[in-house]
Amino acid sequence: MTALAAAADIDTASSLTVIVNKTRPFDPVDYAAPDLRPVKVAYANPPTMRSEAATAVEKMFAAFTAETGLAMQSQSAYRSYTVQKSVYAGWVASRGQASADQTSARAGFSEHQTGLAIDISAKPATCTLAQCFADTPQGEWLAANSWKYGFVLRFPDGMTSVTGYEFEPWHYRYIGVALAADYHASGATTLEQYFGLPPAPDYLK
Ligand SMILES: [Zn+2]
Repeated sequence: MTALAAAADIDTASSLTVIVNKTRPFDPVDYAAPDLRPVKVAYANPPTMRSEAATAVEKMFAAFTAETGLAMQSQSAYRSYTVQKSVYAGWVASRGQASADQTSARAGFSEHQTGLAIDISAKPATCTLAQCFADTPQGEWLAANSWKYGFVLRFPDGMTSVTGYEFEPWHYRYIGVALAADYHASGATTLEQYFGLPPAPDYLK
């Protein structure tokens, strides 16, 4: 583990480096993120995030457009415990619980509840919340450059046995610029690996 990773607070819900997965729910489970504000970018649904992460998203989207002449938008950012509860219930109703658990987090276990995670899509929309987003200019640019703005691809391809989720090329998590650069340099492919945590393929009960 790197010195920066070892020094990070991954347990406190309000820490910028809190790690939430299927074995690490929020404490308290209905934690509400502080300092939320609207993210001033194009969106499918109006996004809010914690202030530092919102600023980073604004910079990252602007850099993408400056470099490529193309655009991206926010699909979904902060989701409260209560909102996540209804999102998850919707997946269970349409696909059943086992399938829902591969795609949507149970309330109290979603990274979106941190106020530090964002689902990003192309604008105009193509491959929204689909694995083919990885092959769009937006998806490719994010995979290569998001670390410079403090973000990591949270659910990479082939790492379901560690993260508990299928490949989500649209879901990015803010951990701060210094740590994201360290993560990128370390060669780690999941935050679990980077922070020396055990795999979290499934809920404990
Ligand atoms: Zn997401």
